[in-house]
Amino acid sequence: MRWTKAKLGELQKRLKTAYPDARCALDHRDPFQLVVATILSAQCTDARVNLTTPALFKRYPDAAALSKANLPELEGLIRSTGFYRNKAKSLLGLGQALMSRHHGEVPNDPNALAALPGVGQKTANVVLANAFGVPALAVDTHIFRVARRLGLSTAKTPEKVEEDLCRLFPECDWIELHHQLIFHGRRTCDARKPDCAACPLLDLCDVGRGKAFDPHSGLRLLPPKASALLQPPAPSLQSDAPQRIISLVPSVTELLVDWGLATRLVGRTRYCIAPKWIRMAIPAVGGTKDPDLDAIEALAPDLVILEKDENPKRVADALTERGIPWVALEVKTVRDCLVAWKELGEAMGAREQAASRITALKALLPKRVKRGPRALTLVWRDPWVAAGPDTYVSDLVRQAGYTPIGPDRYPRLTEADLLLLDPALVLLPTEPYRFNARHAAELRRLLPRARVEIVDGQAMTWYLSRTEEGLRCLRPLP
Ligand code: SF4
Repeated sequence: MRWTKAKLGELQKRLKTAYPDARCALDHRDPFQLVVATILSAQCTDARVNLTTPALFKRYPDAAALSKANLPELEGLIRSTGFYRNKAKSLLGLGQALMSRHHGEVPNDPNALAALPGVGQKTANVVLANAFGVPALAVDTHIFRVARRLGLSTAKTPEKVEEDLCRLFPECDWIELHHQLIFHGRRTCDARKPDCAACPLLDLCDVGRGKAFDPHSGLRLLPPKASALLQPPAPSLQSDAPQRIISLVPSVTELLVDWGLATRLVGRTRYCIAPKWIRMAIPAVGGTKDPDLDAIEALAPDLVILEKDENPKRVADALTERGIPWVALEVKTVRDCLVAWKELGEAMGAREQAASRITALKALLPKRVKRGPRALTLVWRDPWVAAGPDTYVSDLVRQAGYTPIGPDRYPRLTEADLLLLDPALVLLPTEPYRFNARHAAELRRLLPRARVEIVDGQAMTWYLSRTEEGLRCLRPLP
């Protein structure tokens, strides 16, 4: 792969989309905690470090306390991170050096940082970037592997790979890219089993497509099975319905495949990623907010499907100008799904499929919606963002027997707002933000009276294709 400026831009765009939550995975509150956690993370997982540091920081909250640490006690506190004897010596030396050279503060000068005990160039870069916002692109094992597989570098050492990456990407993107590449290495481009079939970078990666040897293993990876990936389900029988459909709505794309209409799908957005095989078989025509209108026109669709909240009105206007037929669904509540299925079923010649979904959902909906416990659904962190009572997600919560609270739409909330709202239940869907047990624990500390639950984000947000699944996952919560 020859990496042109345009391809590098595309790579960054896709990484951003795939890992919107990419950030430093080591829990820390200040530069001191970060430097300590980074030293502990050598040859150890970030998750293990995060389990170790709360007790460590309680006992040694700053450099002054750490400089007077009792070595055997310190070793005991960090034992589970491995190489604990050396790490304990480094930490003790770090505390003493910070006290004697820097008045107990972590310096933001690269040379002074790298000169501290246990802090090499890589740790210094991590601390500079995450604690002080200084552009740096420290290459760890994940970035080293991913960069070489993608052909961004052919260098044999992390230092040289770092040089190559810093040359290829603008300085202002280094910090973000650092986290995104690590997330990609952890979640998709695994050392032993890269998930190339599901990789958003597959068409940019010669190794993933079996066109080049994997520099990590020295082997040639088997390309994702084209026959399986490109074989869509059987076509629908009705011939007067649209035959060249482009869906600009990810959950509708999934729905159409479920309904056996995949052979009629000629285009999708890059966010239409389910089922997995469509990424290989159906071309992407940009995003939901900014579809590539020329690409859409070139595919000569006889219907483009939009949703009013998902796609801006200007997209519909532009399609009209080009004489491309479109239909716009509107799904603001769970009951809107009944209407949308009917509309789609009629437009697609898939009335039976629509009728069966309508019957299934009606059977799940309550006759009368009760005012259950006050529930707050959060959809983002930093800042906290909630799904207000007038959103589809909150209506799902309402239909499941709770009372959604908070301001309408998607308001940003401070911790004081959360306290004022005083929810009985806080729901943390795993999409669009990847909420996890750490966030749940954080909220339980902040709102000790509330029950905090992590719930399936796709079931909660993929309206039309997963509506019934969403209701089932909320009702009743375990
Ligand atoms: S296609 Fe495969 S090898 Fe290439 S970046 Fe993606 S997961 Fe890694």
